[in-house]
Amino acid sequence: MMSGIRGNVGRSESMRTGASVDSHDSVGGGSTGNGGSGGPGSNVRLGFANLPDQMHRKAVKKGFNFTLMVVGESGLGKSTLISSLFQQDLYKDRELGSATERVNKTTEIDKRQIELDEKGVKLRLTVVDTPGFNDAINCQDCWRPIEDYIDNTFEQYFKDECGLNRKNIVDHRVHCCLYFVSPCGHGLRPIDVELMRRLHSKVNIVPIIAKADTLTQAELRDLKERVLADLDRHKIQTYRMPDTDSDDDEETRRQESDIRACIPFAVIGSNCVVESADTGRRTRGRQYPWGVVEVENPKHCDFAKLRIFLLGTHMQDLKDITKEVHYENYRAKYITERMSKRKGAVRDDFETRKSKNTTEANFEAIVDTEGLLKEKEDELFNAK
Ligand code: GDP
Repeated sequence: MMSGIRGNVGRSESMRTGASVDSHDSVGGGSTGNGGSGGPGSNVRLGFANLPDQMHRKAVKKGFNFTLMVVGESGLGKSTLISSLFQQDLYKDRELGSATERVNKTTEIDKRQIELDEKGVKLRLTVVDTPGFNDAINCQDCWRPIEDYIDNTFEQYFKDECGLNRKNIVDHRVHCCLYFVSPCGHGLRPIDVELMRRLHSKVNIVPIIAKADTLTQAELRDLKERVLADLDRHKIQTYRMPDTDSDDDEETRRQESDIRACIPFAVIGSNCVVESADTGRRTRGRQYPWGVVEVENPKHCDFAKLRIFLLGTHMQDLKDITKEVHYENYRAKYITERMSKRKGAVRDDFETRKSKNTTEANFEAIVDTEGLLKEKEDELFNAK
């Protein structure tokens, strides 16, 4: 194999040019050194070290997409936080319903998209808000539209994947769910537990303590501990950051452990610009009679860490977990359920055919063949 590479390079002039041979290399010669990517005896640069650059160029050209869901009762600051995170007012047109309207309100799904561009890198961001969740007096089943929405995105993706136009699938799967915990409670409320337990195997949940400026530091510490204890007690699996890589530099490892230590993120949002007390810089914040709280100041809240986590360091991992764990779980469950339904139907059919000399041995074959035929039928039907 090694000599094959050397031999090829030696034979083909054009390939040699494409492989960007170092000028001092003796191509195809009898060197016996072990250095270089061409294997033992070759210092030839074959060119595949540029693969990451090629992937980078292709990915940048295509752009990235990310879907973020925000869940929490009205008034907890969800839309303000989204505006603060992405520096855009996505909810200019939103009207707050009166208290009487909210009494009977059911959970809605409100989906908005924006395109962001930073240094030529394009991000198509979809924010899925859930207004009305936990607003009504009777909150029974108010989690259902949220769970159904996530299931539907998986189902749609699965159908598209099985269809004929796989190349142009639009991915609507939710990559991260920011779950807003009220700063007024003493931890998670039953409705929080109910929804999180339903969602934790379907989406990456990241717990957030809303309106952190309404709590003292001691209260905040206490609430964080209670939320973590409740998550543990109810066996709710929120998104778990991957372990730090031993290859990472000191700075990255420190940043990651800082982020890890402040989960659940205690955040403050604001649509106003105020003057920073320390630097005099104008920044997003909230003005109080006794001073100013700055959204991006790490001494005031965890907003900056949340933004680094979400946009700077863990966006790809959130997408990977969605694809490799949550979607795969859904897919496996869906296929197993369909197969067992089909097996049941075919067994009934088999019982009726027994008299016509169908043996137990070819039962599996019937399942497979009929299953395949049904799948192809569905595929053609969906493609219409
Ligand atoms: P949503 O219904 O969850 O989307 O909540 P909004 O973002 O509309 O915010 C409801 C109210 O809370 C508004 O008056 C906001 O100015 C206020 N608010 C938003 N974030 C914060 C925060 O971090 N701290 C405080 N004290 N108020 C906030």
